[in-house]
Amino acid sequence: MQTVLFHSTVFGPIHSRRLGISLGINLMPNDGKVCSFDCLYCEAGFNAQGPGHDGIPSRESVKRQLKRKLEQMQAEGSGLDVITFSGNGEPTLHPHFKEVVHDVLLLRDRYFPQAKVSVLSNATMAGKPAVAEALRTVDNNILKLDSAIAATMRALNRPTSPNVIPEGVIADLKAYAGQCIVQTMMLRGDYEGRHIDNTTDAEVEALIAAYREIGPREVMLYSIDRTTPAEHLQQVPIDELRAIGQRIHDATGIAVQVN
Ligand code: SF4
Repeated sequence: MQTVLFHSTVFGPIHSRRLGISLGINLMPNDGKVCSFDCLYCEAGFNAQGPGHDGIPSRESVKRQLKRKLEQMQAEGSGLDVITFSGNGEPTLHPHFKEVVHDVLLLRDRYFPQAKVSVLSNATMAGKPAVAEALRTVDNNILKLDSAIAATMRALNRPTSPNVIPEGVIADLKAYAGQCIVQTMMLRGDYEGRHIDNTTDAEVEALIAAYREIGPREVMLYSIDRTTPAEHLQQVPIDELRAIGQRIHDATGIAVQVN
């Protein structure tokens, strides 16, 4: 079984052409996965692997580990372009997410004030006041919406709560009044006898209506580029992604980034 990718709370720095020099923060366990979705494409594997034994890192531990890493990078004369919350599950499920974000912003300001702070979230907690308050303070508040059609969200993202439906997520994202980036994973494939494809006309039209309603700062489209826990998923070719991106931009006027 494919299992968690990140074995520490602070990971990196990773050098990438797209992000530059990037540090990651994993607020979920280092030896298991905790998420309110169980996406077919999750790089951290399925939730079935369990939460592990290490537990969720405390606020103090995150602060201490990040401070140590930033001091080390500064002493080495390294640069830093972005600090990204991602990892083995959903970062906003951390019980002290708001306080952790506060600490990270202070450390960023002290050691690498030019670096951006990004959060990659599945948006299931985006309507919670403390989470929303924290997400509004980061540079890049990146929230997931893979489908605006309930059956597809259920099949692709597999929320752990039946209460998570596109209408609710869209209403929560709309409340950010443009202070968010919506990220959409596009793919097609088969899983347990069911065909999934969020690139169809009906899916793209439903997404366009959702993006219009939300009014995000930007839409980010991407497709799978690593092994996925569900077999038989296909990457959407970059030219097709670009064409979908253009269609979304033409219909909404929203900036679309295609990766
Ligand atoms: S929301 Fe993110 S971490 Fe959670 S299952 Fe989906 S891809 Fe994995």
